[in-house]
Parts: sequence; structure tokens; C-alpha cells
Amino acid sequence: MTAHVRPKAFDNFKARDFRMLIDGAWTQGAGSAIERVAPGHGVVVSRYPAGTKADAERAIAAARKAFDNGPWPNMTGAERSNILLKAADLIAARADELAFLDTIESGKPISQAKAELGGAVDIWRYAAALARDLHGESYNTLGDGTLGVVLREAIGVVSIITPWNFPFLIVSQKLPFALAAGCTTVVKPSELTSGSTLVLGEILIEAGVPAGVVNIVTGTGPEVGAPMTTHPDVDMVSFTGSTGVGRLTMANAAQTLKKVSLELGGKNPQIVFPDADLDAFIDAAVFGAYFNAGECCNAGSRLILHTSIADDVTARIAELAKKVKVGDPLDPTTQVGAIITPQHLDKIGAYVEGASKAGASVTLGGGALDLGLGQFMAPTILSGVQPDMAVAREEVFGPVLSVLTFDTTEDAIRIANAIDYGLSAGVWSRDFDTCLTIGRKVRAGTVWMNTFMDGASELPFGGYRQSGLGRELGRHAVEDYTETKTLNMHIGARTDWWMPR
Ligand code: NAD
Repeated sequence: MTAHVRPKAFDNFKARDFRMLIDGAWTQGAGSAIERVAPGHGVVVSRYPAGTKADAERAIAAARKAFDNGPWPNMTGAERSNILLKAADLIAARADELAFLDTIESGKPISQAKAELGGAVDIWRYAAALARDLHGESYNTLGDGTLGVVLREAIGVVSIITPWNFPFLIVSQKLPFALAAGCTTVVKPSELTSGSTLVLGEILIEAGVPAGVVNIVTGTGPEVGAPMTTHPDVDMVSFTGSTGVGRLTMANAAQTLKKVSLELGGKNPQIVFPDADLDAFIDAAVFGAYFNAGECCNAGSRLILHTSIADDVTARIAELAKKVKVGDPLDPTTQVGAIITPQHLDKIGAYVEGASKAGASVTLGGGALDLGLGQFMAPTILSGVQPDMAVAREEVFGPVLSVLTFDTTEDAIRIANAIDYGLSAGVWSRDFDTCLTIGRKVRAGTVWMNTFMDGASELPFGGYRQSGLGRELGRHAVEDYTETKTLNMHIGARTDWWMPR
């Protein structure tokens, strides 16, 4: 390993000291500080309070008070919508600052972070529109004596827990929808990437969100996250993260039977038939595997190629992957940035080693890249992977592409479904029937056809099986943060109970 050189961009840089937001006030809390070392630069860039269980409980109490006493849940949809639209404008105005924070704290390329901010602004605007359209149902079909009305009410206090890989984007997939419904919230960002979520707190105050409606507590999962999943004053937990912690979250929430929404891991297949537009696929394969350094729940980390094209297509993917620019996350031309922590880099390396021992071949990369900055991993391709190998079944969460093969459509579907995850999948063929057959038979929340990892605020996103529970985005996203209440209204004289109705 060469010694790290302090990058020029950090010549006059001062690490930013953040505070937590509880009941409308910025606080250090009673705990110590968490220092974040930039994964792409090896420099301390941020310090956040190490929140404690007591901080989480104060935040929950503030959210409870803000929900029970209003005004947020009692405002009109239009009033909440206007505040969310103002927040969207303020996010757009501070997009460069937010993208910079996400880049230095997570190691993702700056061009990508900026694109994520653009997507987030769109989500806040979309949620603002939904805030005005939240409505229930009426039943005028129950006879002369009954009118039925089904109300939608905000569910109450929501705990929002997010991971490090898309810090601003993921909180934006949850928080504006919870706010649109009239909920109050306690938000816990990852302890590795809390900066942009804390800036969001400033933005929401400026936009007019009342004190206590959004509380942001930084700290570790066991200390701050766990009480957010067990506390009786919390009505719902919205969690994005690993399947293991998701399972624990569900078990914790079961103690008080809270509603739980889970966005978890994935091991997403791309199934490729010989008649596909292979040039388009090869580009999408490289993008799908190495975008965000493969630290992406949606990564297309499992290629299932028809045997007749497998060798040729793998060689062409390797040629293109060699051209991917891995480097300084702050360089606007960088396509793949750093790996989140040194420990995570070791974990990815162990998967590659395990696959080699199990009989797979390393066709490209396979190890760390020393760029004299933070920690980086070479784009890697493993061929000859068998469906039962760990690397084919488990989420590696790094730039590692596993190549498997199939002979018949039935084989491809069987291999695609032979894992515990079901987040997303891709199918490539010019044949309409083939695409639709795969689209219907693969058990995943999203199936892309002749494209990969496209998204839109309008399209629901979430997983089958151990990839999660519930859906985010789409026109029902606000409803997820509501309860229904039936108003059964009698009209005219009521018949005694023993009389036929
Ligand atoms: P993680 O599960 O380690 O942590 C996620 C969050 O949970 C963090 O804020 C963490 O502090 C908190 N946490 C940890 N222990 C906790 C506990 N006991 N109680 C409550 N909260 C706790 O995940 P990560 O490493 O931050 O993120 C990577 C994972 O997230 C991957 O598995 C990835 O697939 C998944 N992910 C899924 C989606 C999706 O939409 N399906 C999106 C992004 C990431």
C-alpha cells in the first residue's frame, strides 16, 4: 500500500461538525462524536453526535407530541403540499452542497451524487402532489339505511432508518411520503453518512415544517436504531438496509405489533437470450454491476447468459469493464468511486477468494486497487459460477459480477428464482413472448426488459421474499403511512337487533 497523499481538494478543507435535530432544536446530545473518514480520500470529513438511547427517546417523545397536538396532521393537504414543494426548491438550491457531502462521506462519484439529488428533488415534488390527492372511499350501495365512508388517517409516529449507499435518495423515498400523509417522524441515517440528512433537517425547518415533526438522531443501530423499533409510542417503522437487520427490525417491532416496511438486499439476475441487442446489454451489464461500486441493492450482480453466447459476451463485458474509470470520487469524470470502509473491502475480497476456491475463474480484476487515496476495488468478473456457490446466492455488495449460464427458458427461470432474494431482475431478448414470460415468472418486485436500473417516482419499488415487505414510490406510497377507519353511518330509524335487516 502506498502512503495516502492528502488530495488537493482538501487543502483548505475543515471537517464539518454536525448536530442532531430534536424537537426543533439542534443538539450535541450527551454522547461522544462519530468521526467519518472519507472512503475515497482517507481524510476526516464529518463529525456527528453519537446519539444515545435517551436521545432517541427524547426524539420519539417530540414526534409523539407533535402528532397528538398538531398542527401537522391537522393541516390541509394543500398546506402540507406547499411546504413539501418549498422543501423541494430548497433541496434543489443546495444540491451541490448535498451532493458533495454524499460524495465525500460515501465515496460515490460526484457526477452520480448530483444525479441522485436531481432524482430526490423530483420525488419530493411527486410526494407533494400526492399530499393533495390522499383520499378514502365511500359506499352508497349498502341500502337506504347505511352510508359507508372509509377514511385515510395518518398512521402516527414513524421511525425512518436508512443505509449508507444512497444517503439522500433513500431518505427521500420515505420522508416526504410520511410527511404528505400527516405523520411525524424520527429519522436515523447511517452512522457512516449522516451529513446530507442533517442538512435536510435545516431545509425542512426553513420550508416551514413545525418543530417535532421531523427529528433526526445520529448514532449506531444498536444504540439509536433499536429503541426506534421497540418504543411503544412509535406506530410504524420504515427501514432500508440489510436483510439481517431488517429481520431483527421486524422481530423488535413485533413486540408492540407496529406496522413495518422493509427495503432489503438483492441478488438480481439479468437473463440474456441470443437474439438480444447485445451491444445494449453489454453496456447495461457493466453499468448494472459497477454503478455505485456495486454497493447497490439493485446491482445486476448475477448474469444468466444463454450458453451459446456466454464466452463471447463475457469477453466483451470484460473489455468494456476495463475502460470504466475508477478513481477520485470528486473528479467529475470518475464513474466508480471508493468502497465504503476497509472492512467492507475485505469482505468483498473474501467473497472473490471463496468463489475461486469453489471453482469459479476470475476473468477480470479480483482485488483491491491502490490509487494512493482511500480504499478501491477493481471491477471484477467471475465466470463459471454455479447457482449453489455463495457468490451466486449472497449479496456481495461490491463491484463483482458473477456469470452463470442456461440452456432453456425454464432453466433460466429456475436459476433466477433459486435464491432467497427477489428485488429486481432484467431480461434481454427481441422476442416479446420471451420477455413477457420471464417478466411474469421471475419472482422480483421490478423486472426490466431490454434495459436495467431505470426508475421513476411514479413506479413502485420493493422486493419479494427476503428483499423486503411493502413498496415505496408510486401513487400508493403515501397510503403506506396511513390507517383506514370505517365510518358506518345509519340513516333514519334503526331497526331493533332481532329484526331481519
Ligand atoms: P445495515 O442493515 O447495516 O444498516 C442500515 C441501517 O440500520 C443503518 O442506519 C444502521 O445504523 C441501522 N441499524 C443497524 N443495526 C440496527 C438495529 N439493531 N436496530 C435498528 N437499526 C439498526 O445496512 P447498510 O450496510 O447500511 O446498507 C446496505 C444494505 O442496505 C444492503 O443489504 C442493501 O441491499 C440494502 N439496501 C436496500 C435497498 C432497497 O431499497 N431494497 C436500498 C439500499 C440499500
